[in-house]
Amino acid sequence: MPLDHSAPRRQEPALDRLAEAARADIAALAYPDKVWVKPVSGPDGTVAADVLIVGGGQSGLVIAAALRREGIANVVVLDQAPAGAEGPWVTFARMPELRTPKITVGMDFGIPNLGVRRWFETRYGADAWTSLVRLPRTDWMDYLNWYRAVWAIDVENGTVVSDIADAVGLLQVTSSQDGVERTRYAKLVVLATGSDGAGAWRVPQFISAALPRDRYDHSNQPIDFTRLKGKAIGILGHGASAFDTAVAALEAGVASVDLCFRRARLPRVNPHRYIENAGIMTHHPLLDDAVRWRIARHFRINDQPPAWASFERAIVMPGFRLHAAAPWLEVGMEDERIRVTTPRGVLTFDHVIPATGQVIDLAARPELKSMHSLVARWQDRFTPPPGEADAGLAQLPYLGDGYEMLPRDPDGPGWVTRVHAFNALSTVSQGPHSTSISGHRHALPRLVRGVTRRLLLDQQHELIAGLEAYADQDLPLPDDFEAALALNDGRHL
Ligand SMILES: Cc1cc2nc3c(=O)[nH]c(=O)nc-3n(C[C@H](O)[C@H](O)[C@H](O)COP(=O)(O)OP(=O)(O)OC[C@H]3O[C@@H](n4cnc5c(N)ncnc54)[C@H](O)[C@@H]3O)c2cc1C
Repeated sequence: MPLDHSAPRRQEPALDRLAEAARADIAALAYPDKVWVKPVSGPDGTVAADVLIVGGGQSGLVIAAALRREGIANVVVLDQAPAGAEGPWVTFARMPELRTPKITVGMDFGIPNLGVRRWFETRYGADAWTSLVRLPRTDWMDYLNWYRAVWAIDVENGTVVSDIADAVGLLQVTSSQDGVERTRYAKLVVLATGSDGAGAWRVPQFISAALPRDRYDHSNQPIDFTRLKGKAIGILGHGASAFDTAVAALEAGVASVDLCFRRARLPRVNPHRYIENAGIMTHHPLLDDAVRWRIARHFRINDQPPAWASFERAIVMPGFRLHAAAPWLEVGMEDERIRVTTPRGVLTFDHVIPATGQVIDLAARPELKSMHSLVARWQDRFTPPPGEADAGLAQLPYLGDGYEMLPRDPDGPGWVTRVHAFNALSTVSQGPHSTSISGHRHALPRLVRGVTRRLLLDQQHELIAGLEAYADQDLPLPDDFEAALALNDGRHL
């Protein structure tokens, strides 16, 4: 049952008290959080970050929290979005509720006071949780903001990472904020750049080349619907964002939405639900290459249905029309209107919105500029059986088991292994779930193990000297204790 947002909210001080309780729980379970990574200076004399995380969405936050629990505190988190607007939740996501069932959440490290359930019950009451099926989207963003405050994670917002390059044993990370460029150094970088991280949300060329720029938007970008009031809109695609956009447009007062898609029927089965189990999500990278490839390809071919709530809402709205088996064959302008040819006839619109998903294109990512041609991709390590090729998936990096990039040429530059891709780049290697709400609990330990392994191995040659110099006393006795003991003939002093 959808949540009644008109119900009075508990006072937010209750969430402050919950935050205190969560911090107390974290402190009570803190072992072994002793800081153990040796500081190292970059070429400019500043202390390099142990880990620099690109992206402060849900993954960036939970990674920073998990690393802190492993004694890694020198972590920098950068995000290009303004504070509170990281990820898709309050920008281009338009659905009323998450697709993820409420039970499959896992940023809490097993600490109930840190979990979204306790947060939600504190805000709306226990009954509201009982009757809830899926979390409202904006509540999820509010929870992430609360989570960030609980851990006091210092995300530097408004900062876009524009390059990651070698700096002899370190990485050099270039970023810019308000047009001011800055160079930092880090031992390791984790890319937590979400679905964006593997390419670009691109309007298909046959549309962008045929229409003036103000006649189309991509569904995965903020859209000013107020300027579309009273207009006829064409949407291409059948995924969640197609239906979410249709609903948002109609609610904003557009005259009509024609939603067109290529398939003869909408997908009804969600393959995500099949692989959401502890076995697959924990051990995905151990599967044979052929099995991992087929899983990724299955998702590409079969896709997932639109979210039920958006679908249900859209189909009863006046002005909404659904066109199956209606790919757009040709698009052009005719008498100030947009003319779209489909196998089922010609449609005319005032504005079109492709909801065509993301194009995989590593070269389109600024942060991969120095790296994308150096890393191993699936096409370098795996030949699909006949009939199972996929040019997009083949572009994705062939990652190590800790999400680390590998050099394309085995003797190639080792510095790329300092970059861990906990984002859409990992889809084939690590499964389609790593960064999703249901995946964190299982995928995060693999990333953390990969990061801590690398940091430890980096300093292994200093370990023996450190061990030998270690002098903290578990048995604090005076230096002359043994001599005094001898004088007393072994009797107690
Ligand atoms: C409409 C929609 C609905 C969805 N619904 C669900 C759902 O119900 N359940 C679910 O599990 N998943 C859902 N997803 C998938 C969702 O995107 C991910 O689960 C989630 O956002 C992943 O979190 P993340 O932190 O890995 O990435 P994101 O949330 O995408 O965060 C990545 C961050 O990286 C930043 N960034 C990117 N590049 C750079 C750069 N170069 N420099 C600095 N910062 C950068 C971005 O600003 C962004 O804040 C949905 C996605 C969409 C689009």
